[in-house]
Amino acid sequence: MRITDIKLGYISVPLKKPFKTALRTVNSVEDVVVRIETNTGQVGYGEAPPTGAITGDTTGAIIGAIEDHIKKQLIGMDIENMEEIMLKLDKSVVRNTTAKAAVDIAIYDLYGQLYNAPVYKLLGGYRKEIITDITISVNSPEEMAKDSIEAINQGYKTLKIKVGVDSALDIKRMKAIRDAVGHEVNLRIDANQGWTPKEAIYTLRKMEDTGLNIELVEQPVPAHDFEGLKLVTDNVSIPVLADESVFSPKDAMTIIQMRAADLVNIKLMKTGGIHNALKICSMAEVYGVGCMIGSMLEAKISVTAAVHLAAAKSVITKIDLDGPILCSEDPVSGGAIFENYKITLTDDPGLGFKEIHGVVYK
Ligand code: MG
Repeated sequence: MRITDIKLGYISVPLKKPFKTALRTVNSVEDVVVRIETNTGQVGYGEAPPTGAITGDTTGAIIGAIEDHIKKQLIGMDIENMEEIMLKLDKSVVRNTTAKAAVDIAIYDLYGQLYNAPVYKLLGGYRKEIITDITISVNSPEEMAKDSIEAINQGYKTLKIKVGVDSALDIKRMKAIRDAVGHEVNLRIDANQGWTPKEAIYTLRKMEDTGLNIELVEQPVPAHDFEGLKLVTDNVSIPVLADESVFSPKDAMTIIQMRAADLVNIKLMKTGGIHNALKICSMAEVYGVGCMIGSMLEAKISVTAAVHLAAAKSVITKIDLDGPILCSEDPVSGGAIFENYKITLTDDPGLGFKEIHGVVYK
């Protein structure tokens, strides 16, 4: 099965409501779709979300990396030479993890089709059903409490609350939510780099003292501040999860060896795809560190790839894959099945896509 062409297209999917974090507000998913064609007629799909504020990868950068660098390296290669393809992909251009992830995902889709097996089974096949949390955007405490109740009524057992905008208000937000949902519901918070280390320690200790019972805190301090992250981890009881601080397997190694965080968040758009994400999984297993799997605001193509990885690996114990649930429509036939908090995989080969609707190819 040889690669004959790599085509790029666009999809646009409106969100049900605006997605607001400490870093940005988003109203729709506007992603690049990668379609890899082969001489057998089989095609593989990947998806690249431009997230300039997080990865630095804009739409133009994603297209340029694939058109000008990745494409010429991979055309003509045989899918059965997986290791060589991944080496070439990695070396084709530095950084540009979003473009690499989209291509990596499409290659895994084809790899599964080549051996007529679903990707999650090729990677370990630990389970075929996972349970995701749902994100509550940053808003007024009252609005966030209302959104939380709505999620609980839909059956969600874990809420991921966006904070990190204003420390005093963040505590009010969390109190309002905890009062509204009661004590059975799991609350995790994501500060998206919004606090200084001391602000984080102050705020998290307050949350501990008021009995808010927070499961974990994601990325309390700026991504580059590994020492600051460690300071927070050393000074609060709430487990700290590194997200924006960990892109590459090398970052994961540094954070884990420094004990700068208690947990690591794997996102395919940061690692550059499944191939590197597997290295972080192995590392975390060796060191006894738990992993979360998350995504950017993505539609169902790339999130399906993350579901396959999560289903394959036991070290991934926390799931934050609500992107497709936040979308008002689903452009994908096939792939993972999202029923509110429950995500199930089929045993269709590869990533199981039948058709991607509404893609405009260049
Ligand atoms: Mg995060």
